[in-house]
Amino acid sequence: MESFFTESRTWAGGPYLHFIVALDHPEYVTFAEAHHNWLAGYGDGVGIVPAPWLHWTVEGIHRQLDENEVERTVRAVRERAKEAKPVSVTMGPTWPGPSAVTTAMYPEEPLSAISELVREAASAVIGVETGKSDGSHWPHSAIAYYRAPDVHDAVFNRGLRKIRPPRVDITISRLLAVYMHQDRDLGFYTWIPIAEVPLGVHAADARASEVVVGENRSLETYNSGPPWGDPSVGYEVEVGRLAVQPPLAEDQVRQEAAINNLLEDSTYFGGGEPAMPVWPDTVTVACERPSGTGVCGSTRFRVRGSWNRPAVVICEHGHFWTDSVEVMREVIVAAAPVG
Ligand SMILES: [Zn+2]
Repeated sequence: MESFFTESRTWAGGPYLHFIVALDHPEYVTFAEAHHNWLAGYGDGVGIVPAPWLHWTVEGIHRQLDENEVERTVRAVRERAKEAKPVSVTMGPTWPGPSAVTTAMYPEEPLSAISELVREAASAVIGVETGKSDGSHWPHSAIAYYRAPDVHDAVFNRGLRKIRPPRVDITISRLLAVYMHQDRDLGFYTWIPIAEVPLGVHAADARASEVVVGENRSLETYNSGPPWGDPSVGYEVEVGRLAVQPPLAEDQVRQEAAINNLLEDSTYFGGGEPAMPVWPDTVTVACERPSGTGVCGSTRFRVRGSWNRPAVVICEHGHFWTDSVEVMREVIVAAAPVG
């Protein structure tokens, strides 16, 4: 019976570079959340991991690296990961470990192979201290951490076993390089994304040579369905150039709204319709992640999300950030298949 986030377990020098898989698959989120009501009964005694922070730790590097080492390590892992391929995994059941409630992940072999791949690639660059590697791994994902020493008793154990939602199958097709952070106040781990590492070479679902965000009226389409496909289906779209329209100034927004109201009233304009405010020129998005001594600067992106999920914009070097639902919708509209 242990409390997970004790002084001795908290990383003094963190956050550290980790390679993880974000387990944001809707099926698995539902599986994990099936335990939440019951876990909530333990109050502050457990730190329940919320959906955005569910993950599998592929490999953790528990030492301080400078930016340059991080960059080289991520590049090396990305290179090696091209030889790998996506893995189908069964998630479940959960069980009460000594310091956390974890979900088992099977089969273990292909997952262990991914951990080994990362360890080898990282070792070649910086020499990695990940403890002893006897090649055996124990792939798992925590759904809650104990925050008090007396939580994990026989009653807890029995209660957990009663829940047992059906196991779920998911596909793991990418890793994330992140700075991992043990959040002692929250009682779980959070991270700052650095770069995405696809397993194998990904073929995009669709292509768009250029997407200008802001040309379509997002509000008009906001409550509508997608022009093609299912709103929940994820898209990954190659974008040659992503341009955004800087937002209108507030007085311009008011002017535009006023004109629109007049137009809707079918007002007769003797001298023609009044001029709409002039929109500023579009700006090409460039990756601003630090890289080497400067910034990455790449303007080649993939954009991932669905009609109802925010766009994740990923540069050719794997750096990524989360943008808005509106951006994703415009990318989907722009990428609509021809014919
Ligand atoms: Zn970049």
